[in-house]
Amino acid sequence: MDQFSSEHGDLTIGNLPLKKLAARVGRTPFYAYDRGLLSTRVAELRAVLPAVVKLHYAMKANPLPALVCHMAGLVDGIDVASSGELKVALDAGADPHDISFAGPGKSVGELRQAVAAGILVNLESFREIDELAAISQELGLSARVAVRVNPDFELKSSGMTMGGGPKQFGIDAEQVPAALAEIGHHGLAFEGFHLFAGSQNLKAEAIVEAQCKSYELALRLAEHAPAPLRFLNLGGGFGIPYFPGEQRLDLAPIGANLAALAERASTEMPAAELVIELGRYLVGEAGIYVTRVVDRKVSRGQVFLVVDGGLNHHLSASGNFGQVIRKNYPVAIGNRMGATEKETASVVGPLCTPLDLLADRMELARAEPGDLVVIFQSGAYGASASPQGFLGHPAVVEVLV
Ligand SMILES: *Cc1c(COP(=O)(O)O)cnc(C)c1O
Repeated sequence: MDQFSSEHGDLTIGNLPLKKLAARVGRTPFYAYDRGLLSTRVAELRAVLPAVVKLHYAMKANPLPALVCHMAGLVDGIDVASSGELKVALDAGADPHDISFAGPGKSVGELRQAVAAGILVNLESFREIDELAAISQELGLSARVAVRVNPDFELKSSGMTMGGGPKQFGIDAEQVPAALAEIGHHGLAFEGFHLFAGSQNLKAEAIVEAQCKSYELALRLAEHAPAPLRFLNLGGGFGIPYFPGEQRLDLAPIGANLAALAERASTEMPAAELVIELGRYLVGEAGIYVTRVVDRKVSRGQVFLVVDGGLNHHLSASGNFGQVIRKNYPVAIGNRMGATEKETASVVGPLCTPLDLLADRMELARAEPGDLVVIFQSGAYGASASPQGFLGHPAVVEVLV
């Protein structure tokens, strides 16, 4: 992966050769995230996006407190999806004004914490409106709210769609006028709309189309709003390449389209701040998962490298995190970069299930017990998205370097 270089056969991350980093961490398996790459990614994005468009980090992609702290200093806001994430965002020093909270089934306790913290709640149901009205009265504060809209369209070519059709997310577009009336009736502090159509999209045209449709829908719905729009979150969905043949997302058309929308917004919704929220695009490529070869077995001619970590730490790389077809993440033997002796091998974890497969018959440097297998594109949906208790192995270590 071209974001990392190597030195005397060792992959380097955060300017550290892998063997030295592994010794510093003290044990395998571990995740390592490169702060330099995180900063570079945000800077590259800022160079293409119009300056008036705010960039939020959706921290469910990677909620490691040290990483969220680093990101909080780079982006304009943090999007959280639970009270646990809210705590991490507040601890990281994010300004409550720029924290927003989305997710279906927010509990009364979570809504109360959100109102007390002064963050923006992206409403997903009529029940949440009623609960917030009662909480606002009780605390003597008006809840800051935006309506998360389940649009009447889908994000084309998305890895996971989260809007359009019947969905548990947001309020259906056709019911939004009624929700806005309720919000006005209860005197909640209405700020705007949140639209999130889907995730992991590598097609710029599809993202541009979704952003345009989201803007139009928000403009139509704004006619029913109890106050002028101050906030319009157009979602994100920017993907990263994981598999052979996938092309990097072309940001230029997205930047140009956002500039055109921002220009329109300056007259059509002059008080509104345009926001995009990104998770994996900001952090995914900056992280690696490192696991050590414990055993090398040959079964009926096929080489298996048995490693000390597996789907219990990295469910996505095993292909079991929502993927329809299992494909190999990019993998290398991190202490044998550039080796000329290669072979076809499968990398499997220590769990007693055939699902625990990290690389299926890939060409890799010939490896022995003690070598370090690296899985790239692992900065998002890794440790926190994996069933760490399954089979009772130790939890994975995470470091920011
Ligand atoms: C998951 C999620 C994101 C982040 O998605 P990525 O694919 O990681 O960018 C953003 N917004 C909402 C509402 C989400 O649920």
